Amino acid sequence: MNKKVVIVGGGIAGLSAGIYARLNGFDAEIIEMHSVTGGQCTAWERKGYHFDYCLHWLVGTRKGPFNDIWKETNVLNDEVEIIDHDIHTKIYADDGREFIIYTNLDKWEDYLRKLAPEDNASIGKMCNDMRKSAFLQPYSNPPGLRKLSQSISSIISMMPIMILFVRYGRKNCDEYFKILNFKNPNLSYFLNSIYGSMDFSALAFIMMFAWFNQKNAGYLIGGSLPMAKRMTDKFLKLGGTLRTRQRVTKIIVEKNTAQGVILAEGTEINADYVISAADGHSTIFDMLEGKFMNDKILKAYEKWALFTPIVQVSFGISTGIRSDSPVESWMIKDQMIGRTKTKNGYSLMNYCFDNTMAPKGKTVIVMRYESAWDLWKDISAEEYKAEKENIEKDARMLMEKRFPGISPNIEVVDVATPITDVNYTGVWKGSYEGFMPSSKNLMDNLSSTLPGLKKFYMAGQWLFPGGGLPPAGQSGKWAVQYICKEEKIGFKVQ
Ligand SMILES: Cc1cc2nc3c(=O)[nH]c(=O)nc-3n(C[C@H](O)[C@H](O)[C@H](O)COP(=O)(O)OP(=O)(O)OC[C@H]3O[C@@H](n4cnc5c(N)ncnc54)[C@H](O)[C@@H]3O)c2cc1C
Repeated sequence: MNKKVVIVGGGIAGLSAGIYARLNGFDAEIIEMHSVTGGQCTAWERKGYHFDYCLHWLVGTRKGPFNDIWKETNVLNDEVEIIDHDIHTKIYADDGREFIIYTNLDKWEDYLRKLAPEDNASIGKMCNDMRKSAFLQPYSNPPGLRKLSQSISSIISMMPIMILFVRYGRKNCDEYFKILNFKNPNLSYFLNSIYGSMDFSALAFIMMFAWFNQKNAGYLIGGSLPMAKRMTDKFLKLGGTLRTRQRVTKIIVEKNTAQGVILAEGTEINADYVISAADGHSTIFDMLEGKFMNDKILKAYEKWALFTPIVQVSFGISTGIRSDSPVESWMIKDQMIGRTKTKNGYSLMNYCFDNTMAPKGKTVIVMRYESAWDLWKDISAEEYKAEKENIEKDARMLMEKRFPGISPNIEVVDVATPITDVNYTGVWKGSYEGFMPSSKNLMDNLSSTLPGLKKFYMAGQWLFPGGGLPPAGQSGKWAVQYICKEEKIGFKVQ
């Protein structure tokens, strides 16, 4: 008899855990509360248009340990087309000033030097920090399972960037920009407005550009849902069991050992191991009733900043609209959209680079803006209905402002709010990527185990400040590596 692993949640972390569990000979069952797998990594169809909710860039499209995971889990295969954008984002200030972020560092450096010749030296230093951070390679094995030789070789390969860790590991972007001391008002304005004033980790900012520069954070044609579907197909093909539309309410624990789960409709499912790849907060505080905890976990969920939830307004447009930039960010401070007064304006993502998103000759444009959870948490059903209508009205007005004359061509408008996200995925406070990577927590991942609880592992974005698809995929793999160690079997990836 194979040992059984039950996995709570069929997002990217849960699917990854399921695939590796099957590859290593365990009976694996994923329990997902939504009707489809993918979690935040999802999309939906409206009148022939495909509205994507997640994927802009996937770290690991070219090389490294994340690339191994994407290949092993069928996210990447010979048929998947990857594109690397030349421009990451075009940003506009309310007075019409424009700022471009290129993905190629040489090109961006040239652009910045022309924009701000007086900051030549600081620009050179920033871009060199970004280039150096390319030496940072994520570990392929989890803590506790790294061979000494692997740890030594990764320390040696990371030598060139140790200085970055020491200097900026505990700094935020505000502090980093102060050190760089940019004098050009345009450059300071744009960098500070995008990355400053919210304790966003300086190191996370620096590393992000290295990934783009290496063409190791591309976009997958088809986007999020086909990505999740490829993983699901692999899991099922390997003989995994998937239950959808079933919510886990409790993890069964006896003698401090996880023994299975209880579903909302009352069914008990027994297992030798439980992996929770569901929302971190509901796993620890609801499914396990807060019984397995330590100060670090408590502090993280009480004190660490979360990503501000977003509202996404998706437009299906009956004409073709081209754009040389996948994303435009309009830094219009205090713009009202529905009840939200935006802090950083809104972005417009034109999916013209992916012809699977709209019927031929048509276009999908997605507007996103941040909207604090406090505005949503106590909203009544009537207020919610009215708010969605107001958002649509305001968003249509902003589209008309950006593309004069477009209104008659807007065929479909779809409004997804933080409530939508919470209802479909259970994500805590609508924080779609978990904890924000800050100066205090970037190097402070949470453990896959909970104190005092045996035969239980956590996986998913809540273990790693910054969240995202790569840590989700990786933590699913790591959970199974730990289980293989407990079972004293060698870990296999195929
Ligand atoms: C708009 C947007 C853009 C993004 N862009 C990017 C990007 O470009 N690149 C990137 O790397 N990341 C991006 N992300 C983040 C990324 O989508 C997430 O970090 C990642 O998908 C999280 O995966 P997860 O498996 O850890 O969690 P989730 O996706 O939250 O999955 C958890 C799953 O558990 C299920 N579940 C929860 N509770 C229960 C329960 N009690 N019983 C049963 N099932 C349960 C949920 O339904 C869900 O399917 C973006 C996210 C959003 C919303």
